Amino acid sequence: MNLENKKVLVVGLARTGVAVARFLKNQGARITAADIRTRDELGRYAQQAIDMDICLELGPHKAETFSGCDLIVVSPGVPHTIEPLEEARKAGIPVIGELELAARYINQPIVAITGTNGKTTTTSLVGEMLRASDLNVFVGGNIGQPLIDYVDSGLHADVVVAEISSFQLDTMESFRPRVGVLLNVSEDHLDRYDDFQQYVRSKGRLFENQQATDVAVLNMADRRIGDLEEIIRSQKLYFNINSDTADGVEIRGDELICRLPGRSPLTLSLANFDVKGSHNLENAAAASLAALAAGGAQKGLQRTLDTFGGLPHRMQHVKTINGVRYYNDSKATNVGAVMRSVESFDAPLILIMGGRDKGGSYARLKEPIAERVKRLIAMGEAGQKILSALGGLTDSQRAKSLKEAVDLAGQAAASGDVVLLSPACSSFDMFTDYAERGEAFCRAVEGL
Ligand code: ADP
Repeated sequence: MNLENKKVLVVGLARTGVAVARFLKNQGARITAADIRTRDELGRYAQQAIDMDICLELGPHKAETFSGCDLIVVSPGVPHTIEPLEEARKAGIPVIGELELAARYINQPIVAITGTNGKTTTTSLVGEMLRASDLNVFVGGNIGQPLIDYVDSGLHADVVVAEISSFQLDTMESFRPRVGVLLNVSEDHLDRYDDFQQYVRSKGRLFENQQATDVAVLNMADRRIGDLEEIIRSQKLYFNINSDTADGVEIRGDELICRLPGRSPLTLSLANFDVKGSHNLENAAAASLAALAAGGAQKGLQRTLDTFGGLPHRMQHVKTINGVRYYNDSKATNVGAVMRSVESFDAPLILIMGGRDKGGSYARLKEPIAERVKRLIAMGEAGQKILSALGGLTDSQRAKSLKEAVDLAGQAAASGDVVLLSPACSSFDMFTDYAERGEAFCRAVEGL
């Protein structure tokens, strides 16, 4: 793609938008960056754009800016259905996302990981497994550095491992991962999609351009993924299998039995895999398949399983105080993640939920809460909705802040209990992101 002197509009100016603008500038394009936020709200991103000497258009979008360019690159934070983008498409202007732009320049095999939950954990595992197999790996995408930074750097990894969100898939065209992993699909982001079916279809686009020589790693226990299977042309490898009839990986006790076509079966031990929750065993299984398909070696995979300690804000053990264990699962921003987290504990639970509601229903949590949660503490904008849906199932109360929620939990807990922050909501009503929320939780626990 020759971008020299092309008029390119970058929509959305946060981390990804700035990285895209920098790349385009180095390609000799003439760039305008548009964002509905003010200069103050954009903070350092606005300054970075100004330093790059590109044209900035802040505040409400102007139709003529969209209609007057050769190419539009949309950031994942911008809904791809907003009016000026629809109008531009109608006028024949190509509208793509950062993933699509980057993919057009990447010649190395890509392992792409998507799903409602477990993306970051699985992406990190695959990256570590391939590194421990002596491959030169770039890990990025939705996690860490945008892929366009990799392209811009001129580096040549053996394999690119990318965490991919559904928003990135909405604006792809030719993106073709050598290995595509779809971990699971459950309700999320209904504030950005018309309905659940549309969200599922969006996840399925990961496989759209794959050919028979590529690999799809799929969750056999997720029936919604089953619905997508007929559109997948690549070789299918499954995790969560319960028979030896399918190609893929079986979790048997504390072993992973991997059966890949044309290779002899291979066994990995989970005896030292120290990350809580059966969902993390699934992530380990999916990661192992993806890493093997991308050239990983058994030794490298095993070393990673033995040493991977999990990631902060995902089932992170913070501290044990007077026999009460405190867990930070701030990254659980949807019901599916909370289900799995709650089901990971046999001990009586004091569960802290709440934040900004994302438009779905909390009803699926009824059973695990009735069975396992001795007290539910709800906070944030969604507090009332959560209590209306779930409050009658167990002792419950509302907290005005996360600090107050932790204090109440500390008072209610007895030795042997677990206090779990697993919000099922985004953090944006009270914090800048899930990490800030998780850190506030850890501080509140330390202060008990
Ligand atoms: P993502 O990048 O998709 O948000 P993370 O690895 O950051 O995934 O984990 C996010 C949340 O989902 C955490 O609360 C974690 O405990 C939970 N989780 C991780 N893996 C899974 C899985 N396979 N199924 C359901 N929940 C999961």
